[in-house]
Amino acid sequence: MATIIDGKAIAAKLRTEIAADAAALSAQGIQPGLAVVLVGEDPASAVYVSMKEKACAAAGIFSDEHKLPPETSEAELLALIGKLNDDSRIHGILVQLPLPGHIDTDKVLEAISPLKDVDGFHPYNVGRLVVGKPLFQPCTPYGVMVMLKESGVSLAGKEVVVVGRSNIVGKPVAFMCLQEHATVTLCHSRSRDLAAHVGRADVVIAAVGKPEMIRGEWIKPGAVVIDVGVNRVGEKKLVGDVEFAAASERASAITPVPGGVGPMTITMLLYNTVQSAKRQKVQG
Ligand code: NDP
Repeated sequence: MATIIDGKAIAAKLRTEIAADAAALSAQGIQPGLAVVLVGEDPASAVYVSMKEKACAAAGIFSDEHKLPPETSEAELLALIGKLNDDSRIHGILVQLPLPGHIDTDKVLEAISPLKDVDGFHPYNVGRLVVGKPLFQPCTPYGVMVMLKESGVSLAGKEVVVVGRSNIVGKPVAFMCLQEHATVTLCHSRSRDLAAHVGRADVVIAAVGKPEMIRGEWIKPGAVVIDVGVNRVGEKKLVGDVEFAAASERASAITPVPGGVGPMTITMLLYNTVQSAKRQKVQG
């Protein structure tokens, strides 16, 4: 049976370290600050934003909330981002996605200063990641890398198969694994014979959004399985993209859903914010 990679425990340990770093900075007069901007009333977004605010409070990070009505214009939002870019109390700016349809998301993400882009979505930060000189790394894939490291999984020379090529998870995690010297295959909805790709992998990273679509029998015995997927099944049950029970019988280590990658995302947001405050301190 596979070892369970406990995301909650790894996140808790990291959050203690982040809080200590934040306290040390605050003692020197620089409390790390995160601005969180929410436009509209999407209930899921509101829940994420409130989780982020609570996590900031627990870590000693100043959180500056901006809850804007759904009719907020693109110009108004861009003006707010401009102000936050210039505000020295703010070290990270996060605009909760999705934005209402009348606002151009790319334009908004590109308006955030790359030096405060704690979500790592600005093309400047994407480019830095691709050339192997990251500044801010996007939180979910960064969390995956930390989990692998904390679990003692070295990627050098390994076959990593990533399923899903989104800009927020699949693509960045593939480049991060490449940076760690893995041989990376990036699969998507047009990939042929997914089972064969997955069956070759020493490490499988699933980020698809389809309940248990990666069958347990595809997993190579001894492989490490990281399941980013979060899928609601029925009223209350959450499952990942991997058939957990069957995959656990073949894998050497596997992340559960919930309690795997999920808790790492906000943790890495806090981490990025504190790192940004440290950088700003050095630059004066
Ligand atoms: P997207 O919907 O943006 O991307 C899904 C990807 O899966 C696409 O690249 C798509 O391919 C690919 N795909 C779809 N069907 C198949 C298939 N049959 N075979 C192979 N590939 C397929 O999703 P996200 O990356 O945003 O999220 C993925 C999952 O991760 C979701 O469950 C989401 O909830 C979860 N998630 C969890 C987070 C966390 O904190 N734990 C954070 C972010 C996401 P194509 O490009 O060809 O369409």
